[in-house]
Amino acid sequence: MTMRRPGRGRWTWCAALAAALASIPALPAGEAAAFCRTTTCKGQDACNGEEIAGCTPLAWKRTCIGFALQEDASEKVPLEDARASLSDAFYIWQSADCGGAPPGLAIQDMGTVTCGEVEYNSEAGNANLMVFRDGVWPHEGGQHNIALTTVSYDPNTGELYNADIEVNTAGYDFSGEFSYDLTWVLTHETGHFLGLGHSEPPAIMQPSYDPSQVGGPDLSPDDVAGICAAYPPADLDPGRCNPIPRHGFAPLCGDAQTPGCSVAPGEQRGSGSGQAVRAVIAGALAVVAAVVARAVRRART
Ligand SMILES: [Zn+2]
Repeated sequence: MTMRRPGRGRWTWCAALAAALASIPALPAGEAAAFCRTTTCKGQDACNGEEIAGCTPLAWKRTCIGFALQEDASEKVPLEDARASLSDAFYIWQSADCGGAPPGLAIQDMGTVTCGEVEYNSEAGNANLMVFRDGVWPHEGGQHNIALTTVSYDPNTGELYNADIEVNTAGYDFSGEFSYDLTWVLTHETGHFLGLGHSEPPAIMQPSYDPSQVGGPDLSPDDVAGICAAYPPADLDPGRCNPIPRHGFAPLCGDAQTPGCSVAPGEQRGSGSGQAVRAVIAGALAVVAAVVARAVRRART
């Protein structure tokens, strides 16, 4: 596959809050598909376009999303190689054929960030980052995880607020002759980043990775159906593409940011009923036959 990469840009970290919105789509009537979307209900993915009462599929409710790379990359994967793989992974999803048009989302490279923490800050700036874990894979019981994507979202609406990808370079080799294919792994992880759940082989969203079985990082019809259901084609205005995360873009972690910069507007801690809350789901890509771990916790918007 010939791949063009999304445009790259640099952004100052005290930028304004983005506010572009788009609706969550529905699968066209009568279209058979086998894909799953992560929902607001822990452990309950909505598959094949089904609707689960009280469970809303996750999606970015904006057409322009930014991502960033942790500046140190990996001793085993140089920064520019990582950037190329991640950009290609997003481009693969953006190139899906949704009935003659691509999915209705734009994705931009926002450069590098210092922060390597998986976090979503409700009172400071954010970045949707990819970070390598060279030393220790920090997820207890997750030694079978090749990579892990953690998404933060509004549990009432399913709106995705933040997504961070961790790659387990402590446990897996992405550079040798018999290594794992980083672009394949990142295409899978960016599927989670965009709100997709696990489906069955040969989908790129299959829950495990067997180096002897997987091919190139190409989307299966199920993958295409999933991304097109989540982001149907739309008239995107490049001039209005604003990839800046909620509460601003920040290359520093939340606790290192300057007070007063990239703060959240008008929120009060512990204000009782009606307060928006945030939930987090982590979706892991495991080695073949390994169990996929999920963890959920709640916090403020
Ligand atoms: Zn996965």
